[in-house]
Amino acid sequence: MKFSINDILRPNIASLAPYSCARDEYDGDDAIFLDANENPYDTGYNRYPDPMQRLLKKRISVIKGVAEDMILLGNGSDEIIDIIIRSVCRPSGIDNIVTFIPGYSMYDVSAHINDVELRSISLTTSFMPDWEEYERVANENTKITFICTPHNPIGVAVPLVDIEALCSKTRGLVVVDEAYIDFSSEGTAVSLLDKYPNVIVLQTLSKAWGMAGLRLGMCFASREIISVLNKVKPPYNISSQTQKIALSLLCDVETFQERKNEILRERERLLVELRKMSIFTHVYASQGNFILVRTACCDELYRYLVDGGIVVRKRDIPPLIGGGIRITVGTPQENDLLIDLLTKYNTHIG
Ligand code: PMP
Repeated sequence: MKFSINDILRPNIASLAPYSCARDEYDGDDAIFLDANENPYDTGYNRYPDPMQRLLKKRISVIKGVAEDMILLGNGSDEIIDIIIRSVCRPSGIDNIVTFIPGYSMYDVSAHINDVELRSISLTTSFMPDWEEYERVANENTKITFICTPHNPIGVAVPLVDIEALCSKTRGLVVVDEAYIDFSSEGTAVSLLDKYPNVIVLQTLSKAWGMAGLRLGMCFASREIISVLNKVKPPYNISSQTQKIALSLLCDVETFQERKNEILRERERLLVELRKMSIFTHVYASQGNFILVRTACCDELYRYLVDGGIVVRKRDIPPLIGGGIRITVGTPQENDLLIDLLTKYNTHIG
C-alpha cells in the first residue's frame, strides 16, 4: 500500500518549523554549557533532560525489538494519543476519528479537546470491532482508527489478522493501543510495523512494568511517522528523573517477570472465584490485569466494597456492559480480602 504520513498531515504541521533545543547541535556531555540558561550549580536536576531520551530508548529497543528511531516516548500514552490527533486531524468537522465503544475514553476526550469529529461504532455482541459498520462509517477523512487490544474494560484481544486487514484497507492511521499487551497471549502489532506504513502501536510502562506514577508511554511506528511526532511533542516531555528511574527499572527483567506471572495466576484464581458467585450475571475472561463483571446490583455492590475499603471501577455502560464493574487484579492478599467481602455479600443477597 502506498502511504505517507506527509499526505495526511494537518497543513500547519506539514509546514511546522519545530522548536530547536539549545543542545541540538552538540552531542557530548563534557563541555561548559552556557547555552540553555540553566543554573550552573549542581542540584542533581539543574540541567534539562535529553529531549530524545537516547539511553532509555536504547534499552526499550532491546526489550521490544524495535529500532531506536522508530520509538517516541510520551508523558504517558495519553500524551501520545493527543500528539497523534493534533498532527493529522483537521478540526471543526473536516477530519474524523473512528473509535469502538464501549472502550477507553481518552480517545474520545482527546478528540473533543482537539475539536475533531468522533465517529463511534458499537462493538459487536462478542465485543469485537464491527467491521461491516466500519465500512459504512469510515470515509476518506477518517484520519485515525483506534483499536484497543486487549480491550479496556472488557479484556478481549482483537486477533492480529483483523488488525492487519484494517491496516491494508484504510488510508488513515491505525493506532493499536496495547497498554495491556504484556498480560496477553495475543501477539503484538509491533510485528506489523515492517509491513504496514500506517500502523502505530502504543504501549505503556504504567501496567505490567509498574511505573504508572512515572508517566511513560511508548509509541512504535515508521521512522517517517516518528519524525513527524517528534516535531509536535513538547521538547522536554520526559524529565531526567523519569528517564533515570525508568532505565534502572527496565533493567530488572526478573522482578517484572515474577510479578507479571503472579498477576496472571491471580487473574485466573479470581476468575474461578468470581464465577462461583450468583450476584454476577457475567464474569468475562480477560487478557489484561483486570476482570469485568456484570451484576444487577452494580451501585449497591460498588458502595458496599468502598465501605469495606476496596475501590473498584464502575463501568456500567448499557446495553453491552450494563451493570459492569471492572476489578483490577491486586496482590494475593488484596484479592483474598476482595473474595472474602464478595462472598459475604453474595451469601447475604443470593
Ligand atoms: N490505553 C489504555 C487502554 C489504558 O487503559 C490506559 C490507562 N488506563 C492508557 C492507555 C493510558 O496509559 P498511560 O498511563 O501510559 O497514560
